Amino acid sequence: MKEVNIAANKAVQAATSAVAIESVSWGRAGKAKWQHNAVALLVLFAPFGMYMNWLALEHHDGSLWEAGRAFASQGPVQTVMQYFPKPSVAGFAGYAGWMILQTTLSFFLPGKQAFGQRTPGGHLLEYNANGLLAWAATHALYLAAAVVGVLDPAIIANNWQGLFVAANIFGFVAAVLAQIKGYFWPSYSSDVKMSGSWIFDFWAGVELNPRFGNWDIKLFFNGRPGIVAWTLIDISWAAYQQQHLGHITYSMLIVLLLHAIYVVDFFINEDWYTRTIDITHDHFGFMLAWGDTTFLPAFYTLQAQYLARYPVYLNTWQSALVLATGLTGYAIFRFANHEKDYVRSQDGDVVLWGRQATYIRCSYPTNDGKVHSSILLTSGWWAVSRHSNYLGDLVLSFAMCAACEFRNALPWSYFFYMAVLLAHRTIRNEARCRQKYGQKWEEYCREVPWRIVPGVW
Ligand code: NDP
Repeated sequence: MKEVNIAANKAVQAATSAVAIESVSWGRAGKAKWQHNAVALLVLFAPFGMYMNWLALEHHDGSLWEAGRAFASQGPVQTVMQYFPKPSVAGFAGYAGWMILQTTLSFFLPGKQAFGQRTPGGHLLEYNANGLLAWAATHALYLAAAVVGVLDPAIIANNWQGLFVAANIFGFVAAVLAQIKGYFWPSYSSDVKMSGSWIFDFWAGVELNPRFGNWDIKLFFNGRPGIVAWTLIDISWAAYQQQHLGHITYSMLIVLLLHAIYVVDFFINEDWYTRTIDITHDHFGFMLAWGDTTFLPAFYTLQAQYLARYPVYLNTWQSALVLATGLTGYAIFRFANHEKDYVRSQDGDVVLWGRQATYIRCSYPTNDGKVHSSILLTSGWWAVSRHSNYLGDLVLSFAMCAACEFRNALPWSYFFYMAVLLAHRTIRNEARCRQKYGQKWEEYCREVPWRIVPGVW
């Protein structure tokens, strides 16, 4: 893979020519409009949403509806005074230990050399993709400590409130520090974007790729505090179920398995991830700093948290159906993502679904005055729709939620969130690609007319 990446890098370099260009328009929009400010209000609403989930799970039988009713009738002050996740020394100490461990592993473990996508400023960054080793080491340590009896495997579940508070505080502090660094000490000033709106800049970030030396802060935050924690938190809630119920349900096992496949896939393909939107286009602000440290661990584990407290019993057929749906979604997700990355790494010369791949050759400028060549794939999964990878992700998300049955909306909020997130991504990403590739993007849309679900949208 290292050779493939280096070859791809060389191919991109070779396909670059210098022309006079003053600035490019395909990066993040320059000035914030009212819609951007409205979205940035999620700085307040997203933590509130996480609080409501916690309230529902902890005090209202997992019912968001009941939690909302109680909140409305008691009023916010009374509710918060009566029910608030309790900060604890164990929570702060545990969270600090967690961050120190993940930072250390990220710094010192060896990993694959990966190259991102060229930034609007013209930078092609190198990454040390050692996430798989960090994930394996963390889980091995946790399970070994549980087996020899020095750690209760349900420790995360039992200290959830304290950890939740600590993660929130850390996420807010990290977002503020990211903002200060972006203003005063950016790693790549040609990739800094100021929108003229402090709330939007705080939400979306100003730096594209903040780094300390070669250590990439965004890759670390996206992968480690959030995604490594995802499966660890699941395991802890499964242990909690075992301790309270005396057994682990099929539904819990299915959720654990589907989450684990998604997480391990992410780390096996971490170098691919450096060429996806989170890394190549999203700046580092509250959305990613708080999102990765608090939202992801609290929200993406909702099904496990729910099932641990309110078990669901699926029969063998139901279990098989949910699992098969999840695995089908995963297969679409993985093949689609692989095809797109593979075709670019081989400069188009690949066979997909038994035929020579077809693609549209396009070009785009960067701020350093150069023009680069690229490829828009139009065969394999990328002939089915323009975001077939999102389609696979949605099917997989549906299965993760279906394991919790249909009696409660809360565990389903993950599927609705993914549907909104991926639809919104599609819209904003396509607007960016239209600016980046111009007529070639229009040509691509004519050739592959559906966005996500063929025949629907
Ligand atoms: P993609 O990996 O699909 O990246 C989109 C980019 O790919 C475009 O901006 C364009 O970038 C390039 N591109 C678009 N069409 C083509 C084509 N036909 N051929 C070649 N390149 C093309 O999107 P994401 O980064 O959003 O998602 C990656 C994966 O992560 C998806 O499977 C998604 O479902 C998943 N995901 C999961 C999330 C979660 O929270 N669980 C959140 C977000 C995503 P360029 O500028 O390089 O041309």
